Amino acid sequence: MVRRDMRKILVTGGAGFIGSHLCERLLSEGNEVICLDNFYTGSRKNVLHLLDNPYFEILRHDVTIPCYLEIDEIYNLACPASPVYYQINPIKTVKTSVMGAINMLGLAKRKHAKILQASSSEVYGDPKVHPQKEDYWGYVNPVGIRSCYHEGKRCAETLFMDYHIQNGLKIKILRIFNTYGTRMQLNDGRVMSNFIVQALNGEELTVHGDGMQTRSFLFVDDLVDAMVIAMNTPDEFTGPVNIGNPEEITVMEIAEKIIGMTGSASGISFHPGREDDPARRKPDISLARDELDWEPRVGLEEGLARTIEYFKKALP
Ligand code: NAD
Ligand code: UDP
Repeated sequence: MVRRDMRKILVTGGAGFIGSHLCERLLSEGNEVICLDNFYTGSRKNVLHLLDNPYFEILRHDVTIPCYLEIDEIYNLACPASPVYYQINPIKTVKTSVMGAINMLGLAKRKHAKILQASSSEVYGDPKVHPQKEDYWGYVNPVGIRSCYHEGKRCAETLFMDYHIQNGLKIKILRIFNTYGTRMQLNDGRVMSNFIVQALNGEELTVHGDGMQTRSFLFVDDLVDAMVIAMNTPDEFTGPVNIGNPEEITVMEIAEKIIGMTGSASGISFHPGREDDPARRKPDISLARDELDWEPRVGLEEGLARTIEYFKKALP
């Protein structure tokens, strides 16, 4: 029998790294989940274990094309997140963020559904204010190699806010900082998966630039908690709200930590710095603490240990 309080939830990008964890969580809480994905960086493998659940459905579809579904809530995650992949076809990346947002907002408007946007710390560009708070407008290059991603995310935020103001849509905007964990693809290209795979394979860890640039890494379970909590906040709360782990670390320190934790004999090799690579990134999460009563629970050591175990099994 279908439960009366069961919500129909659409997760775009649901076959990706974060999306697959979110689908799993939403199903475990007794919801019906439609996972929409074009499988560009996501994989059916990420959600194979959910296929037996009668309340789970996969829809191969591209968010740049409108779709008509019966749903109560939308989590909009469709967009490649690794710089390696979002730079392969930058026009497509912009279309995915902008046209994807328009299509999903249109669907939300028609169905009176709540909609959450997976925005990014990239909206701050290469920030000159540290740590970053939500009222900082960012320092952003509109024509660089990362622009397809961060300008797409910025425009999506604009669209979300305008649909909220103009049409009264119930929206939530989450500015997600670097997130890692199980189910990242082996060849994802982001720093955590690269370093762990290199360390486990006994290859040199490839540091870009001098390794003094910083990031703050959030474990995926903490992010999924924040997403579900944010979706269920009162309608007045729209965000944008930073979701990240304020534990800041240099790329060099990550490399050393991963070599230590894997017991690898790998060395470190230095490569040219990436264009427009943000020098420092760390969230101020006071707003998330106040409004969502949320803060990360998984520290870097624990999250890394769990991720390394996953990669050990995933490696051929
Ligand atoms: P991911 O690349 O693993 O997942 C993205 C998913 O979207 C993939 O399954 C991909 O196939 C799908 N997709 C891409 N383009 C699509 C399209 N046009 N139509 C339908 N599906 C499409 O990345 P992720 O790390 O899971 O990121 C998920 C979301 O969270 C993204 O929107 C990303 O921008 C955002 N985000 C992630 C991070 C992070 O550190 N992981 C940080 C900030 C924001
Ligand atoms: N990085 C690195 N070696 C790699 C991959 C990434 O040194 O093999 C660096 C990259 O230059 C950046 C940081 O690690 O400074 C994080 O990169 P990632 O691609 O994970 O995400 P970003 O935060 O840049 O979007």
